[in-house]
Amino acid sequence: MIEAPNPKIDVKTKRFIGHIRGKHPGPTLIFFGGIHGNEKSGVTALENVFKELENNAFTYHGSIYGLKGNLPALLKGKRFLEKDLNRIWTKSNINGLKEGKNRDLLIEEKELLEIHGLIQDILELEKGPFYFIDYHTTSSKTLPFITINDALINRRFSKLFPVPIILGIEEYLEGPLLSYINERGYVSLGFESGQHTEEMAIKNSIAFTWLAMVFSGFLHKGDIKDFQKYYGQLQKSAENNSNFYEIVYRHPIDDIDGFKMMEGFRSFEEVIQGTPLAIEKDEFILAEKDAIIFMPLYQEQGEEGFFLIRKLPIWVLALSAFLRRTKFGSLLQVLPGVSWANKEKELLLVNTKIAQFFTKPFFHLLGYRNRVLDKTYFIMNNRELTARNEMYRKTWWYRITIWMSS
Ligand SMILES: [Zn+2]
Repeated sequence: MIEAPNPKIDVKTKRFIGHIRGKHPGPTLIFFGGIHGNEKSGVTALENVFKELENNAFTYHGSIYGLKGNLPALLKGKRFLEKDLNRIWTKSNINGLKEGKNRDLLIEEKELLEIHGLIQDILELEKGPFYFIDYHTTSSKTLPFITINDALINRRFSKLFPVPIILGIEEYLEGPLLSYINERGYVSLGFESGQHTEEMAIKNSIAFTWLAMVFSGFLHKGDIKDFQKYYGQLQKSAENNSNFYEIVYRHPIDDIDGFKMMEGFRSFEEVIQGTPLAIEKDEFILAEKDAIIFMPLYQEQGEEGFFLIRKLPIWVLALSAFLRRTKFGSLLQVLPGVSWANKEKELLLVNTKIAQFFTKPFFHLLGYRNRVLDKTYFIMNNRELTARNEMYRKTWWYRITIWMSS
């Protein structure tokens, strides 16, 4: 465990894919590949990009880090060995691990502590603005897509990439790395580049890395000759789809042996009401209404069978951006049935028996995403209250006025 922050970061360890620090001031980019050990595309892509960077004499502004995620699982080519490294980044869990509760740590808990220490060191050693990007792949066929926690800084930065964007995954997943980073206020994007082993998944992550380096200002667009090629490749892979979507349903599985997805679905495929989606405990699971299927599970490890998503209309995005700027959302605790859940005033506790007039979409508009506690209560987390807007205010992409954030 790294207890005291190390003033110098040792980049010679196996964790590092690469690191470059430019002479000129600029952003800090932190890329992760292989947080899931069976998803190597991101690692391969980053290795490829760092090789290119080292062979060329670009002018760099700021710093870039390429980090490997779950080292022991990567060696075995498994999603994880003892615990999913992308489901244990909750504040309470991390604090518990750091306090060292006299027990042997699991493999992934050790990985978490090491990565956590590195993130701390980088945040202390480098200047912002910080960009965290985490590479994944899926077991099904898919268009490449971005997942973000729903903060406006994330929306704005991810909108620059010509791929679909999925909002609100934080409501459905416990403890992903990016939610932890986003809770601390930094821009953080997950990029799912394709199916685990397909060549295109590597190519898409390579293209994404180059675009991210340009969009963040680490490289100047004019300095790299293939910018248009990379942009065009992502656009084509994503079939010109750059819509925003919201997750409306997660199908949890407690017994993976009793669950089997019907063959042949791919993410973003539209299904009509009544379509059999999976078999669970010898019964068909049917689509209850017309829907868009997302991340159907075709592998032996995982906690979600599939998700359903819906396209977000432009007016919803624009209205929510407007409401958030008015800070209306920070006044909700005066309403009956709504109170602060912690002293930092970043979580709202909602009693659904009293605050019946609220619906989930209403809270979503204001930037709140909920986690259900029990039948009566749910807890709301507002990304806008913790977002470090000040850090990004001077970037070119923050300032451009576009429909979604005007
Ligand atoms: Zn993954």
